[in-house]
Amino acid sequence: MEVAAHVRPLGNDRVLVLGVDESGERRVEAVRRDFVANISHELKTPIGAISVLSEALAAARDDPEAVDLFSGRLQRETARLAELINQIIDLSRLQSEDPMLSRELVDVGEVVAEAVSRSQERATQRGVGLIVAHTDVVRVMGDRWQLADAITNLVQNAINYSNERARVTISVQAVAQDGDDFVDVKVSDNGIGIRPEEQERIFERFYRVDYGRSRESGGTGLGLSIVRHIAVTHGGSIRVWSRPGQGSTFTLRLPAYLGPVEPEEDTP
Ligand code: ADP
Repeated sequence: MEVAAHVRPLGNDRVLVLGVDESGERRVEAVRRDFVANISHELKTPIGAISVLSEALAAARDDPEAVDLFSGRLQRETARLAELINQIIDLSRLQSEDPMLSRELVDVGEVVAEAVSRSQERATQRGVGLIVAHTDVVRVMGDRWQLADAITNLVQNAINYSNERARVTISVQAVAQDGDDFVDVKVSDNGIGIRPEEQERIFERFYRVDYGRSRESGGTGLGLSIVRHIAVTHGGSIRVWSRPGQGSTFTLRLPAYLGPVEPEEDTP
């Protein structure tokens, strides 16, 4: 550890001396620089494609088939760019000191239903079956939309990294461990799986195991890092079990809320 003294005048001849771990500061700075470099690189790809496609579209004015082809691609690249920007905004908010989470009582089964309904169209397109296998009624204290985003990310990955006509199973299970109560949301697929050496790295920002496959699925490499931030800001965790060629199970564990529930207001 390298400690440097930072001296701040406080007035009346008093100073505040702060010891700062400079190696830590430098590390944070390096991570920040890497992040910015990665973002710039990732943004350049769809922006470059949009620029080329819009020129091609202008040149193909008299060819309706080419216009259809280029405008379709243009829409996909624009959607990808929008998704990337949204995810970068989500991630930087989650990494800030105040991630602006709302805290309310959330029924985990309802959030799973929301994630399944958001993912249904993609599943149908790929012929993948979505099955909600088991749902214990458990509440957590947290932000409903962040939790729905985290579970949607896991479900959509399971769809994207499965072969066509595969099955994705989602369950919600109450778990007691060392005197504490949790809820496990498990998302299992029988898809391509992840090699052991990659399993830690997939939670890093912009990390993708197979660039081609991820690109084809419209991936950004930010999804799991967002899931991990959401899990941690809710006092929970995210784990993966996987075997290449057999499939993967992601487990989002959250602290269960067992306190009193406000009685529902009488509806007139
Ligand atoms: P992406 O936007 O590329 O999907 P993620 O952060 O969500 O980014 O995931 C990182 C990488 O982890 C993916 O590119 C993929 O290689 C791998 N991955 C994630 N989920 C699965 C899964 N269910 N099965 C196999 N590989 C997966």
